[in-house]
Amino acid sequence: MLLRHTPKEVMDRHAVTINPAKTCQPIGAMYAALGIHGCLPHSHGSQGCCAYHRSALTRHYKEPVSASTSSFTEGASVFGGQSNLLQAIENIFTIYDPEVIAVHTTCLSETIGDDIKQIRDKASKQGLIPEGKHVIYCNTPSYVGSHVTGFSSMCKGMTELSESTGRKNGKVNVIPGWVEPSDMEEIKRLAGLMNVPITLFPDTSGILNGPLTGEYHMFPEGGVTVRELIGAGDAIGTLALGEWCSADAARNLDTKCKVPCKVLDIPFGLAATDRFIDTLRTVAGTSVPDDVNRERGQLVDMMSDTAQYYYHKKVALCGDPDQLISMVEFLVSIDMWPVHIVTGTPGKKFEKRIKELTAGIPCEVNVRAAGDMFLLHQWIKNEPVDLLISNTYGKYIARDEDIPFLRFGFPILVRVGHQYFPNVGYKGGLRLLERILGLLLDRKDRDDPETTFELTL
Ligand code: SF4
Repeated sequence: MLLRHTPKEVMDRHAVTINPAKTCQPIGAMYAALGIHGCLPHSHGSQGCCAYHRSALTRHYKEPVSASTSSFTEGASVFGGQSNLLQAIENIFTIYDPEVIAVHTTCLSETIGDDIKQIRDKASKQGLIPEGKHVIYCNTPSYVGSHVTGFSSMCKGMTELSESTGRKNGKVNVIPGWVEPSDMEEIKRLAGLMNVPITLFPDTSGILNGPLTGEYHMFPEGGVTVRELIGAGDAIGTLALGEWCSADAARNLDTKCKVPCKVLDIPFGLAATDRFIDTLRTVAGTSVPDDVNRERGQLVDMMSDTAQYYYHKKVALCGDPDQLISMVEFLVSIDMWPVHIVTGTPGKKFEKRIKELTAGIPCEVNVRAAGDMFLLHQWIKNEPVDLLISNTYGKYIARDEDIPFLRFGFPILVRVGHQYFPNVGYKGGLRLLERILGLLLDRKDRDDPETTFELTL
């Protein structure tokens, strides 16, 4: 009973968060920046922040994560970090020779009020940024927002590289949102099957799920290239997957380069994948090939073959808003009842959207944006569930309440596989169903009396 002090009675709390359902903004900015080929993320703050962000990503992806830091000491903390950043930019281009440095701020540099654009422009004027190289940036104070807003801000920062020549290049931009490298790979595979040329950004596939080759490359093969990011301004359209993670970047591209955008949900599950495939088809003016239809049919088949096991099972979820919205829609489509839903990321729109998706559920649904895992635990104590879906931290609740537990989202620390197997698309839907079904049937096998302990489905 590690969480034995969690009381059942829910009290109104405004001034304190207990067991946060989010992490800090720069982690999201760093993850997004890693999705650019030849990019070195740079943390403008103290060494401790950078070390934490890197280790958080390494623990989840099980890959080394390179990033540099402005290495604030007492002087920079008082007088500002301009000279540290100028020195860092010069050192990084001289020693590591990246294509791009992606600077994000931290609580400290934001509190001091460092103006990153002004410092970047000064570095450019002083000739510290070599010809053809770039420094992009975003503001990520961690006392507001979450890792999700940090990711979104860095994606928007990437679009500052985009340029419009006035001639469309026939490509479609896809901003995948915060999903796994395996999901990004799957989105590219689906677009390839449909013969639609896309620019996916960011793209961490090949960077955070690469093979063991025996050789270390500071900048692995994968990632969207700077050339592709510049060309994103000439695309025929942008699909932004997720309002929280991707919409700001897509809208910026629309404003800046007149690339029309559509904001969709992350394609987890049947309906969201249908919408993604259909929109990609419409924007690119193509048709859906048999291979994709076949994959869809397999997902529908599995949904109907196993429907009885999901029927009216109650689920509690905790995670990031874009992921939860698609996940809740998928669960409702297989007759499960998501009854407690918490995200640590702020945004009232989240609560409204979840309420809409769960409107047909004949019991009370608790939903909270900017909530915490303490609240989720209290809700579960008052209304027990059959399944908990959350990042790694949910294991404490799952153990105390003895609930089957699906690890999903960020971070996942004590499991592997999320880097390699997608959750998006029809194949991803199959995997989600397989994992959910496995948990429910394991529980059934454990609890069933001998008389109903079955060998077959
Ligand atoms: S000080 Fe702020 S930016 Fe640094 S690790 Fe803590 S929350 Fe994140």
